[in-house]
Amino acid sequence: MYEVANKFNFNCHMTACCCQNMEIFLNPYDILKISENLNVTTTEIIDEFILFLEDRETGLFRPILKSARTGLCKFNIDKLCTIHVNRPLSCRLFPLARISGKFLLQQAPFCTGLTDITSIKLTDYLNESSVEEYLSMSDLYHLKYDVLKNLNNGLLKNEYYNNLLNILLYDIDFFYNGELKNINSKDKFTLSLYLVDKLLDIFKLNRSYDKKMIIEELFMEGDKFIVKNFN
Ligand code: SF4
Ligand code: SF4
Repeated sequence: MYEVANKFNFNCHMTACCCQNMEIFLNPYDILKISENLNVTTTEIIDEFILFLEDRETGLFRPILKSARTGLCKFNIDKLCTIHVNRPLSCRLFPLARISGKFLLQQAPFCTGLTDITSIKLTDYLNESSVEEYLSMSDLYHLKYDVLKNLNNGLLKNEYYNNLLNILLYDIDFFYNGELKNINSKDKFTLSLYLVDKLLDIFKLNRSYDKKMIIEELFMEGDKFIVKNFN
């Protein structure tokens, strides 16, 4: 991979080779946008399309597109992405990747588009791919992920807390039993991150709550957040 500062040679030939046999990582906002696109809950998206890979060192989970890992992505039909408008950030960026704030061109021998002589400006490519909001949501997610990765307080080793953390982060519709219908993806995402912080607070303070009280406190905090920010 090398950094793209200004221009790179690329023109997509619509082969769909980047939609198969790839580990395509998603962030919570990607999941929310796909669920918005299909008008279903995050739970339904996760059940059908997502696989969670565990980072054994940290105990954290990262979602990927399940079908694309060993075959063709289920969203690809006749070499077209059926969720193009709400496709995940990784798909928007390909053949680029963003690492530490830099845009890198991936070495992908299967991508004939990279052999095209068409030159494209980085800024034009990013604009055409409408990545701005996806990038800022991804930044927020990675900031949170880094905090979680560096947790040294046993939360991730506690099965109950770890499961709850994953529900809050990736499947907010499950937590709210599908009742967040009037809240858009961006707001759901900020609510998710807020509730993750609240869960960390509960764990840090080592309150001797039973499971019912933890859930009650999270709902109470969530309600306050919704009233303050979304009404
Ligand atoms: S592999 Fe390359 S050329 Fe083929 S669809 Fe993906 S970006 Fe386009
Ligand atoms: S979501 Fe769309 S662009 Fe991404 S891998 Fe699936 S079909 Fe391809």
